[in-house]
Amino acid sequence: MNEEGRIASPFSVPPSSLRASFFVCGCGRWMHTQGIEEQPGLSADHWLVRSECCGCHWRVGLEVKADSAGSFVDRLMWTDEARHLLDRMPPYVQGLLRPSVEDYVRANGTQIVTAELLGEARRGGGVRWDADAEARLSRVPASVRTMAKAELEKTALERGQSAVTVSLMEELKARYFGMAAQKQ
Ligand SMILES: [Zn+2]
Repeated sequence: MNEEGRIASPFSVPPSSLRASFFVCGCGRWMHTQGIEEQPGLSADHWLVRSECCGCHWRVGLEVKADSAGSFVDRLMWTDEARHLLDRMPPYVQGLLRPSVEDYVRANGTQIVTAELLGEARRGGGVRWDADAEARLSRVPASVRTMAKAELEKTALERGQSAVTVSLMEELKARYFGMAAQKQ
């Protein structure tokens, strides 16, 4: 039992009265979503949705099927797993990524940012390479290429550029070759 006083509900399929875009506490007020855990227990297709009443502060954890979890969430929410992944990214990346991921999730018709959707959004909305920059990268010595690629994509993101260009490569050349030299 953690400090939230979690009660894992024994039912896996919620009664139809609870299948709404929100649910109501015994005191008559809305239950507000506090958090979502994608895999709280052994059954990977069940999530735990934590909610709290804004009036009496009654807290409850509902174990629900992953595909119906959206019915218990009152606004756009990140799962604990997705949030954890985001928290490990540098702050400037978080700032750029958060709104684009949330747009992506809304466009998917859901309110829940999962670790999987975060990954999809990153791949789809990530930094692209201009064709000539890509050709040039292939000529960078293999020992430096991985580091150069990461450094260029990071810098492009940092500057809000959607693509890595030859001029960016020219500008950063000294930096990534220098980093590679230090590492050896
Ligand atoms: Zn209440």
